[in-house]
Amino acid sequence: MIIILFGAPGVGKGTQAVILAEKLGVAHLSTGDAFRAAIKNQTPVGVLAKEFVDAGKLVPDEIVARIVEEAMEGATFAKGCILDGFPRTRAQADALDTMLAAKGLHIDSVVNLNVDDSTIISRLLQRGRADDSEDIIRHRLDIYNHETAPLLKFYSDKGLLTSVDGIGNVEFVNERILSAIAPSGVQAHPVPDTTSDQA
Ligand code: AMP
Repeated sequence: MIIILFGAPGVGKGTQAVILAEKLGVAHLSTGDAFRAAIKNQTPVGVLAKEFVDAGKLVPDEIVARIVEEAMEGATFAKGCILDGFPRTRAQADALDTMLAAKGLHIDSVVNLNVDDSTIISRLLQRGRADDSEDIIRHRLDIYNHETAPLLKFYSDKGLLTSVDGIGNVEFVNERILSAIAPSGVQAHPVPDTTSDQA
């Protein structure tokens, strides 16, 4: 089960992805978190990504692909994953399809979280991460509008997209997301494994 949480920076993808992954019992891949960890640990990918992340620019697609491929090798990935912050360009979306197909997987659902720009800016300023100064936030929103938002049509044309109101209580928003993905057969509470160790 592969679910993409989509939306501009600051719509709450990260918060929602953590809760969803927990409820659904699947993995969570945040490319932003993966880059921040790689930068902190000064890995080769981290060294390459640092200048882009610091400036609020998109990390080049080939470097993103490296970090995603690495995450997909994880043991839990095939069981399912919530993708948060990836894909962000058409090239990344195409690369994702290729990577998933190689594993016999496909995207089940793409959920777009809708939040207006002024709410996004005040949320991000409160969060206060290193790349959350007002000019870098505006730059990231601009990049989102130009490079990432066009993917909404790409996924809508494939019949995979649903949009959810991202404003309000975190748990309410999460319930909206779960309702949005329910038609793809996703279950909120994983059925316990009754096949092992049964006498
Ligand atoms: P996020 O935590 O999703 O807001 O991402 C923080 C930063 O990491 C972004 O501003 C980009 O510099 C970089 N980044 C994360 N995901 C991607 C991606 N899929 N493509 C390119 N850059 C990314």
